Amino acid sequence: MKLCFNQGSCDHCPDHSMMADLEAAEKYGFDYIDLRFDVLDEYLKDHTAEELADWFKNHHLKPSSYSGLLFFNWKKTEEEKQKVFDEVKRLLPVFDTIDLRTIAVIPSFGIEEHASVKEIKDDAVYMLNQIADLCEPYGISLALEFIGSGNFTINRFDTAYDIVTTVNRDNVGIAIDLFHFHAMASDVNDVAKCDGKKIINLHLNDVEDLPIGAPYLDDSKRLWPGEGAVNKQGLADALKACGFDTEAIPAAIEVFRPEYYELSVDENVKTAYETTKAFVEKYLA
Ligand code: ZN
Repeated sequence: MKLCFNQGSCDHCPDHSMMADLEAAEKYGFDYIDLRFDVLDEYLKDHTAEELADWFKNHHLKPSSYSGLLFFNWKKTEEEKQKVFDEVKRLLPVFDTIDLRTIAVIPSFGIEEHASVKEIKDDAVYMLNQIADLCEPYGISLALEFIGSGNFTINRFDTAYDIVTTVNRDNVGIAIDLFHFHAMASDVNDVAKCDGKKIINLHLNDVEDLPIGAPYLDDSKRLWPGEGAVNKQGLADALKACGFDTEAIPAAIEVFRPEYYELSVDENVKTAYETTKAFVEKYLA
């Protein structure tokens, strides 16, 4: 299985920069990097996409996914929807230049309406189809990432999978992030019986053993893969049962823990590589 480093894991480290992250990920042996939205925007203020493409051409490390398109759904006006489409149109030529082919799409949160699951689903299906239309000519796919918090509109595997199978397009799949999977008690049995080809992003991490639904069960409680309360064996077995493609989809480490941001980029990426490799060998080989 190929190993991927999500730049969000080190983007508050004292010596972080686009180049520091790329060089460290290359140095420790990662195959891929997931580029963080704000880091990419910062980089593009002073550099071109062509410069980034050149760097990738001369290194083993390649871009995997964009992390991510924020808050794509439940836009109340046409103007707000158009802003999402315009953002995608702005980014697509950049992704095409650097040969990045998957966008993680993040649902909206904190909505005012008491929307039903069906209302949220219908809207998300519409938005994903519109965005997928824009991405299709570039051969770029969308990975819908459910966010494991009650405040988010799409927060469980079963809901996200229902949306993605209703969209029913080759370039729209789902992201499973172990933290988000655990944090809203998604069910491994739903994964075991799903079409594994629909899972096109896998985000590795672990989490402290805190009550499901607790408001303090948040991103800051993420741990390196293998060190916490996630039902790793259950999820690994379910991924095998559903035919998840461990050859095609890299294992991408994604932690946002304040203590890990105190490390240097080098120490952060080194530990990320070691824990990701050990996790994959134990559970996904
Ligand atoms: Zn994630």
